[in-house]
Amino acid sequence: MTTLAYFEGKIVPIDQAKLSIRAHVVNYGTGVFEGIRAYWNADHEQLYVFRLQEHYQRLVQGARVLRMQLSLDAAQMSDLTLELLRREGFRTDVYIRPLAYKANEIIGVRLHNLRDEFCVWCVPFGKYIEKQDGAKVCISSWRRNDDNAIPPRGKVAGAYVNSALIKTDAQLNGFDEAIVLNADGHVSEGSAENFFMVRGGKLITPPVTANILEGITRQTVMLLAREELGLETVEREIDRTELYMADEAFFCGTGVEITPIGSIDHLPLGGGGVGPITRRVRDLYFGVVCGDVEKYRHWCAPVYRQ
Ligand code: PMP
Repeated sequence: MTTLAYFEGKIVPIDQAKLSIRAHVVNYGTGVFEGIRAYWNADHEQLYVFRLQEHYQRLVQGARVLRMQLSLDAAQMSDLTLELLRREGFRTDVYIRPLAYKANEIIGVRLHNLRDEFCVWCVPFGKYIEKQDGAKVCISSWRRNDDNAIPPRGKVAGAYVNSALIKTDAQLNGFDEAIVLNADGHVSEGSAENFFMVRGGKLITPPVTANILEGITRQTVMLLAREELGLETVEREIDRTELYMADEAFFCGTGVEITPIGSIDHLPLGGGGVGPITRRVRDLYFGVVCGDVEKYRHWCAPVYRQ
């Protein structure tokens, strides 16, 4: 249960962390947020936050696009997040939600000359997509928002209306998730996760110029695949019909972790179920995020003193 939040410069009881209906971010979506996970390792009696600094570096970069002037840097945000988690005393897996936002209580759409604030709260969290043995995925009838409209490179709050349209359309049609295409018809990503496929033993993922979020899990997967599995990832445009010919595919992201895709537009992939490369990537990923792999322990920030 959430009991605390960092809000307007201090840690307060969660009930006191409230924004006005007049706040700029509430009306115009002028905020950037993050989604970070912390994993409880029972053997180590430790809560590890995965790639904490990298998440805050991305938040700070997104805030720059929204012309924010934040009083905290990524290191300070990381420190106070660890402090918040310590005070919450969680001994379970946790999701961390920071938000940098335009706080003024005014009418007027713009980005400049506004007051920028930062807040963060945390909540115990399980799976984001329930179906872990092969999600049923469709191609969305919606298109991904373009970099020249609302940049997907930053986690801009208002841009997630696009993600919500994609996710709801998929679920109301009986699917677990959707893959969304760019306006030019090439694959971008999932509603709130990056996409990989396996063809001919190679990992393939859309490039950072495909209107994707530059995912931290995506980068983690590419590194682990290269270092630990000897698999290079090809970053290139992907056509829609290539998806139907993939041997395996999976989504990745902080929330979805590694979620295998079982079918796309009702066409089963490979042998159906979880493919062998996806399984190896997933096993490796879970070992690393839980702090069980010494070599990658530097990615796991311990919450409690050792
Ligand atoms: N794409 C989108 C649109 C997302 O919202 C997310 C979740 N943050 C991702 C990809 C995955 O990014 P990450 O691995 O950094 O969580």
